[in-house]
Amino acid sequence: MKGEDYHHGFELLEQAKAFSRAPVSGYQVGAVLITVQGQIFAGANLEFPGQPPSSAVHAEQAAVAAALLRGQRDWRELLVSAPPCGHCRQFLREFDSGSLRVRVLGKDGTESASTLGELLPQAFGGEAFLSDTKGGTERPNPRLPNTDWAAAAREALARSHAPYSGNPAAVVLAGDGHLVAGASLESAAFNPSLGPMACALSQWRMGGREFGEIEHTWLVQSAPRQVNWEQQSRALLASISAAPLTAV
Ligand SMILES: [Zn+2]
Repeated sequence: MKGEDYHHGFELLEQAKAFSRAPVSGYQVGAVLITVQGQIFAGANLEFPGQPPSSAVHAEQAAVAAALLRGQRDWRELLVSAPPCGHCRQFLREFDSGSLRVRVLGKDGTESASTLGELLPQAFGGEAFLSDTKGGTERPNPRLPNTDWAAAAREALARSHAPYSGNPAAVVLAGDGHLVAGASLESAAFNPSLGPMACALSQWRMGGREFGEIEHTWLVQSAPRQVNWEQQSRALLASISAAPLTAV
């Protein structure tokens, strides 16, 4: 018999999973990140119909983004409904040096626990090369108006993780009186990086909102641009919403 801890964790994962949108695979994944102080951040996977599979947001990324956007960096454990894929192990490694506890709670009552370091030995991280490259020079953010969406964008830009391009980026979604922001979160391995639109849309979903409720969106990027998220942002948004995007 599994204990109360398993059942509580399993329940949290089921609740997180309910926010998944997986029109391509039909495979729903939930993740729950728990901080040292006991705060809980939930994530679910998000797929974009008609877009390349690499544009998907993994549940672990959604949970990590939720914590980072609120400035929470001290994590105790990650609960997941399936073992984290290699992409997620690499993404997690960007923000945790390997001590994070990862618990996989299967629906058949099985449970396994490891550290991120055990799941990703001999890991590649930015510390291996960052000091030898031109990365890390942060470019200035554009001037923004004195509005609520701009305030949300400024906060998200400050939480964006862009040590490799030096280009912090943020997306703000507005609809039904709500503002939800996302930020670019780069990975040293580049491909597992999470773009600002994918990040914002996943946070919108995790708030229990439908994409049809989005009325307007803004993309804010620093300049000059080593990377540019505009094309991807427009494509992802258009795949699930008719809302316009203003690029700043
Ligand atoms: Zn994954």
